[in-house]
Amino acid sequence: MTRQKIFINANLITMDPDLPRADAFSVQGNRFHLIGDEAFVMNHAGLDPLIIDLKHQVVLPGFIETHNHLSYYALTRLMVDCSSFSNKGISDIREKIAAAVSSTKKKQLIMGFGYDDTMMTENRHLTRQDLDDLAPDNPVFITHASGHLAYANSTALALGKVTRDTPQPAGGEIHMNEKGKPSGLLLEPAAMSLVAGKFPKPDTDLFMEALPLAMADYNKTGVTSTHDAGIGIMGQGPGSMEAYNRLEREGNLTVRVYLTMLFDYYDPFIEGGLKNGFGSDHLKFGSVKLFQDGSIQGLTGALKEDYIETPGFKGELIMPQAQLDKLVERYQKLGLQIAIHANGDAAIESVITSLERAREKYPHDDLRHMIIHCQMASEDHIQRMKKLDAIPSYFINHVYYWGDRHEKRFIGPDRASRIDPLGSSLRAGLRFTLHGDTPVTPISPLDCIHHAVNRVTREGKVLGENQRISPLDAVKTFTTDAAFCSFEENLKGSVTPGKLADFVVLSADPMSVPRETIRDIQVLQTVVGGNTVYMK
Ligand SMILES: [Zn+2]
Repeated sequence: MTRQKIFINANLITMDPDLPRADAFSVQGNRFHLIGDEAFVMNHAGLDPLIIDLKHQVVLPGFIETHNHLSYYALTRLMVDCSSFSNKGISDIREKIAAAVSSTKKKQLIMGFGYDDTMMTENRHLTRQDLDDLAPDNPVFITHASGHLAYANSTALALGKVTRDTPQPAGGEIHMNEKGKPSGLLLEPAAMSLVAGKFPKPDTDLFMEALPLAMADYNKTGVTSTHDAGIGIMGQGPGSMEAYNRLEREGNLTVRVYLTMLFDYYDPFIEGGLKNGFGSDHLKFGSVKLFQDGSIQGLTGALKEDYIETPGFKGELIMPQAQLDKLVERYQKLGLQIAIHANGDAAIESVITSLERAREKYPHDDLRHMIIHCQMASEDHIQRMKKLDAIPSYFINHVYYWGDRHEKRFIGPDRASRIDPLGSSLRAGLRFTLHGDTPVTPISPLDCIHHAVNRVTREGKVLGENQRISPLDAVKTFTTDAAFCSFEENLKGSVTPGKLADFVVLSADPMSVPRETIRDIQVLQTVVGGNTVYMK
């Protein structure tokens, strides 16, 4: 039996409405035990507890991230970083690719991640010509920050047998240059997988190397639980699941993981009788992942009105309505939770319509379907989600990273000012969560909370003032409301006796610092199940 721990002089914010604040708490085994003032906790403690003085530091429940790609992010820890967070232009990226070529064997694959055409000084997509002279003998494959596009050099295209004569895949596009040849740009997983499907699958050993690095990054930002939001992306399913399994058995899973799986990975499990929630406190079988559009900044989001830069073009739904209806109905009938990606208002409309039809046919009260990103939800959508008990998870970092370009290039000021309508959702009484979609943006719940409260863009403009929310409401989206999304509201999300002892120690209270400084708050310590997994 591990020794009981008593934390005193804590500035504890429990997120439990029954006892919102306290200055002492105890942990017995992996659970919170006593919470209250110091005298109460000391008087009711067992014999010989370990006493830890928190010196009035702020304690919050551990952060639960409800949409990101932990296992895919883990792989990027071993790839070339082509993101705008660390490159200004194409020449910076060319330098990094050249360095990677010099340290890689001939014919071996070089992967890059995070390229964003709209953030580079050249303001354009990569072409295969940008990569061919650097890597004539190595396949090079670079994914876009949105995750919905990729760039391949000629060697990689040849590996995927992609030529001018390759039929265009359904739901994707092989982009052609002015000479009518593949330019290297591949749009949507349907086209990306023509090439990526030929690469050796990342195996368990690779994930065993990469996942601990990635989990350490998560712990550093206070994340104690996460949804891994697309097991199976780019064929990385079996290796990642085996590695998760092994890490759990070894007791080395320092982030609790809720597995959201692409439907073609999911189906064999449910045919074998598995349900949401199967697993342990560390690793659980979660929702089924579907997609109904791409990303607005990739011009693959499905909108009701035109993109402003491309009159006559609205983007497209991935599936015809009848096909989505059928899929949603299948999982609804089985009583399983769906997490479905929809950014544009046309995609959100289509998803809500499918959910309404399925619920009409197969009523289930408590499936907690999630609409992922839900960026352009209208007031009508919000009302309908509320009726459906659907939970939008808003990718709030859109406001900061893409808000200016949404306004000027993609959807114009009116539509841009109400992306991620948190204020409207709150006023309608709709439960929602926030996420950072790592590796699309760097992992950091405090950054997301900051952007939800401030809604300031990179250029310093406030985007949609009436869609801001309070720090307390923003913190709920990473604690109590996030726990609800994985049916774990009785297990985590607040500092409450009997719940898992997952918490963070912060340098300041997000509820009381000036709002524009929330993102400067530091995570000092992260604790999972009573064990410290990060200490600054
Ligand atoms: Zn995602």
